Amino acid sequence: MLKIDGKVAVITGANTGIGRETAISLAKQGATVVINYVVGEELAEEVKKEIESFGGKAIVKYCDVTSFEDTKVMMDEIKKELGSLDILVNNAGITRDTLLLRMKEEDFDKVIDVNLKGAFNCVKHASKIMMKQRSGRIINISSVVGLMGNVGQCNYSASKAGLLGITKSAARELAPRGITVNAVAPGFIESKMTEVLSDDIKEAMLSNIPLKSFGKAKDIANAVTFLASNEAHYITGQVISVDGGMYM
Ligand code: NAP
Repeated sequence: MLKIDGKVAVITGANTGIGRETAISLAKQGATVVINYVVGEELAEEVKKEIESFGGKAIVKYCDVTSFEDTKVMMDEIKKELGSLDILVNNAGITRDTLLLRMKEEDFDKVIDVNLKGAFNCVKHASKIMMKQRSGRIINISSVVGLMGNVGQCNYSASKAGLLGITKSAARELAPRGITVNAVAPGFIESKMTEVLSDDIKEAMLSNIPLKSFGKAKDIANAVTFLASNEAHYITGQVISVDGGMYM
């Protein structure tokens, strides 16, 4: 068992996919988890029930991560209600894929707003609490396309590359206060976000994965859980690829 027992973890966008698996994984290691959502309240309540079914502790919190004010309120409430805020997983993310020539200004702005600005908002407000505690773990969910780029994903890959900039800068700023900041860069993971892709695109992607299979949300949750643990205390400013070898 990793040393996460008794810690409080907030995972943005934790009602489904990678966020859901991460919340369950952290709760299994003894963390009290905050399941954040923006639209899917019912799904968030289901994740809470699942965690409680194995004796874990969880609460559900609505918050649109694009709001600077609301993310502050959420982080302050967590500290007040649960006593601390030890782990932040910036997982909330969206796509608005299309070729650069067809990409509308709002497609670009919306993806940057949720994926990049949303993470900034959460890091900003959570780190203030963690700095007073003189400890903390921040894990940003980036993407292989933040490292490689991808056709039809100018907005998304920019947001995910930007997250790596936040990760490395915040890691340097927060290290003196005992806070580590790392990123996990998933490859092609089976989820709601990827099931909408055509078979042709899926086949093409599979041919570029040395391990010849798509990842599961649990694969990402495992990496995040390790980075959130005491055992990972000497790792900061890093990008851990979990992509079957797509990018090396
Ligand atoms: P998903 O199933 O589509 O889930 C996205 C989550 O983000 C949902 O919980 C959603 O909550 C939440 N969200 C969206 N907008 C939000 C907002 N404004 N405020 C708060 N929460 C918001 O996605 P996923 O595939 O699990 O991906 C999770 C993360 O991994 C994303 O950052 C994604 O970019 C990254 N990633 C995924 C893959 C992949 O292959 N799946 C690959 C690389 C990176 P609601 O349901 O309430 O809207």
